[in-house]
Amino acid sequence: MDYLDSLNEPQREAVTYTEGPLMIIAGAGSGKTRVLTYRIAYLMQLGVEPFHILALTFTNKAAREMRQRIEKVVGNEARNLWMGTFHSVFSKILRIEAEKLGYTSNFTIYDTDDSKSLIKQILKELNLDDKIYKPSVVLNRISGAKNRLISWQAYLNNPIFYAEDAAEMKPEMGRIYKTYCERCFQANAMDFDDLLFNTNVLFRDHIDVLHKYQHKFRYVLIDEFQDTNLSQYLITKKLAAVNQNICVVGDDAQSIYAFRGADIQNILNFAKDYPDLKTVKLEQNYRSTKTIVHVANKVIENNKDQLKKLVWTDNEQGTHIVVLKAATDNDEGQQVAYSLFEEKMQNHYHNKDFAILYRTNYQSRAFEEALRRQGIKYKVYGGLSFYQRKEIKDLLAYLRFVINPKDEEAFRRIINLPKRGIGDTTVQKIVIAAHENNLSLWEVVSEASKYLGKGRSISPIEDFALMIKEFQIVVEKKDAFEATSHIAKGSGLLRELFEDKTVEGRARYENVQELLNAVKEFVDNPEKEDKSLIAFLQEVALITTADENESKDGDDDYVSLMTIHSAKGLEFKVVYIVGLEEDLFPSQMMLSSRADLEEERRLFYVAITRAEKKLFISYALQRYRFGNLRMCEPSRFIDEIDVQYLTTKNNRFSTLKGEDTLTNFGKPLVRKADDFSPSKPSIKTYPLQNQKNPQREHTPSANFVASNPAKLREGMKVEHQKFGFGRVLKIDNQGTDKRATILFDNAGEKTLLLSFAKLMII
Ligand code: ATP
Ligand code: MG
Repeated sequence: MDYLDSLNEPQREAVTYTEGPLMIIAGAGSGKTRVLTYRIAYLMQLGVEPFHILALTFTNKAAREMRQRIEKVVGNEARNLWMGTFHSVFSKILRIEAEKLGYTSNFTIYDTDDSKSLIKQILKELNLDDKIYKPSVVLNRISGAKNRLISWQAYLNNPIFYAEDAAEMKPEMGRIYKTYCERCFQANAMDFDDLLFNTNVLFRDHIDVLHKYQHKFRYVLIDEFQDTNLSQYLITKKLAAVNQNICVVGDDAQSIYAFRGADIQNILNFAKDYPDLKTVKLEQNYRSTKTIVHVANKVIENNKDQLKKLVWTDNEQGTHIVVLKAATDNDEGQQVAYSLFEEKMQNHYHNKDFAILYRTNYQSRAFEEALRRQGIKYKVYGGLSFYQRKEIKDLLAYLRFVINPKDEEAFRRIINLPKRGIGDTTVQKIVIAAHENNLSLWEVVSEASKYLGKGRSISPIEDFALMIKEFQIVVEKKDAFEATSHIAKGSGLLRELFEDKTVEGRARYENVQELLNAVKEFVDNPEKEDKSLIAFLQEVALITTADENESKDGDDDYVSLMTIHSAKGLEFKVVYIVGLEEDLFPSQMMLSSRADLEEERRLFYVAITRAEKKLFISYALQRYRFGNLRMCEPSRFIDEIDVQYLTTKNNRFSTLKGEDTLTNFGKPLVRKADDFSPSKPSIKTYPLQNQKNPQREHTPSANFVASNPAKLREGMKVEHQKFGFGRVLKIDNQGTDKRATILFDNAGEKTLLLSFAKLMII
């Protein structure tokens, strides 16, 4: 057990305290995940069978990595551990127990598109306006209810929900929720939230099943506990009720999924639910430099809602946080790419040592272009994934339908694909016949002449039914790969793509081939116990953003581009947090309440704490958003970084390409640090093409910028956008960045970097 020597005292204590409830709430990079990993290895070495251990992680990738580490200690046995995300573990259990809930084990997992399409369908049938009942909003509401374990029956019976919906002019929400659940059930389908909701129902209504799993999972471990929702919490609470061997690790400062129902209360409830709870604190950070740890601590101090904890490190002091100021979003891309290249060369780093983190997916474009030009390999996580492409979803829909012919969403997708003369009117007829006879669409289709009468439109339906029946036989007899190839060909999908000789057509054809490769790999993988097509489809349905784009060619040396949300738990030598602008990060949508702003700040904290050696932050002065060029302001979060650890790189602005709209090449627009020195004119603005009056966009902070900070002297009264009124105590002219120490009436003493501070002299 050499690994015990590689742990500090409290870590070792957490690993070896195996019996009874244990909670580790500790700061970023303090070894929480490491403790969990070694704890599992330790349990196994004590003789606990791997199938008695259940470990829940935030992504499937995290589970895989953990398993590999454990394998190094205990060998092949690690394969038999129950490990994965809540959704993947409990969908496996639901498949085994499906009949108990009235489903069959071949149930489909609906993705968000399926759910939305079903909601649209329901709105149409109920004659409701999809502008009032926006499908995404409806879906969120349903999802929120399910994650709080509110069934449609409870929803309809609770006048509070009715009043809320009425106030939002959506009185029919309850009815939609009910219909949605009924239709999913009829289609033998569960959406993501159902996987957790139904597990709760299963454990509530079938005590024998609960007992079985309580005895099976003698040890339950949960990583990233701060991001569990009520539904997840209750599942684990039930499972651990007998043995009480539950170990949770998390960091309240990294809770970033409240919008999906994650509830920090779970941490607080945990102590109440387990009076014998042992808590272990981990305070030493092993990941980052002193500078980064200090800056992260300072930033999170601005949040009122947090459990106070100390995080410190013995690592080197490290270099300053560097701020890159860019003229435009494209310029930001270039500056980051140049800087990244420079860092890579100077320090002999690999591409995989770098991550570029942003608030929203669409920001990746500028960085992708710049990295491509620079010849640096990168991978974008998230966005439109392979499995969301149309041609892939089409083929998957065939597979789904063959396996579960009640799957209505798959049916609608493939009934006339490739075109076989079954138009909307015919589909409508099928739907009506199904409703009238209380049958599924497939039951009508498979006996078309009985339910739809004879007619010209019948024969393509009969052909379709015959084809599906034949596919069903193939799926029974052949392995997943052979069955998928057969269906790709037999359905005519592959031929249709093959005949499309355009560039896009070729790419689509190759994508389908790639899907076939994926099935082949799945079938050939010795680690997969269940090689059925159902198992493959289940795995695909549960792929999360962070699991995508796994390198297949074995070459994993690429820069990672991802949202901060997907970067949780990861670490990189050098991190660029980009787009640090007001309304972008913090996001415009998160400024309405303190709680929302605090969630954004936690997100910033997560981003900072991904960095091991060096952290860069960048922002652009203007950027295209929603099709318009907008002036941007540096984010308030930059103000929150302790200035003594901040360096602003006065980069020459990289050469602008034609598409940029600045006319003054090589010059910044506003607020370069030098602008504040007395020898230079204070604020420069330059005319923009394409925009009549860019200044208008700049309000309300225009006043703050337009004052003349060059005149800033000690003793002056100033107003700061965030801190309010104050008096300048000291101006520090030394160093690269000019800074002022100001005593604010309400916010106390602050030292601010003048190139960022939104100050107005009054
Ligand atoms: P996060 O909050 O970001 O999820 P974490 O608390 O889970 O972080 P880990 O990822 O487990 O932290 O650890 C951070 C880094 O520190 C890892 O590279 C890990 O290997 C290293 N580390 C943790 N504990 C020790 C130790 N005792 N000695 C050396 N390295 C350690
Ligand atoms: Mg971790």
